[in-house]
Amino acid sequence: MSVFIPLGALDDAIIQKIAEISGENARRCMQCGTCSAVCPMVESMQPSVRQLMLLLQHGRSGAVQEATTAWTCAACHTCLVRCPRGIDIPRLMEGIRQIVLRQNLDRVDPRAIPAETLAALPPIALVAAFRKLTA
Ligand code: SF4
Ligand code: SF4
Repeated sequence: MSVFIPLGALDDAIIQKIAEISGENARRCMQCGTCSAVCPMVESMQPSVRQLMLLLQHGRSGAVQEATTAWTCAACHTCLVRCPRGIDIPRLMEGIRQIVLRQNLDRVDPRAIPAETLAALPPIALVAAFRKLTA
């Protein structure tokens, strides 16, 4: 069973709000793919960072809502350092998370996490995860 909770619809106005919160304009992305190539989390993301930028550029709110990308981002800043357009992608990811969480929508259901997983994880990991994934 997935621990991720399906989200409600995001509209184009919310995508604009993501840009306002993050201060980053996805339309500056030139789709070079460097961010996806250097991202250590890319294999756990669906879609990749570059693909998420493309979805934002096209106002594909439904696809942005389904994306795991922002929730998987570890904010390591590798993409920021390498992006030829200087786009602060971690900030943009934070903007996506904030716009969802501010609607009081949790991204993870703690009750769906298996007991053995809870027992195995260090408490600091759980606290960090709930700060990032719950409203
Ligand atoms: S590295 Fe920057 S310009 Fe290249 S695809 Fe990623 S966000 Fe776009
Ligand atoms: S900041 Fe996030 S998106 Fe960028 S390289 Fe690190 S994990 Fe990937």
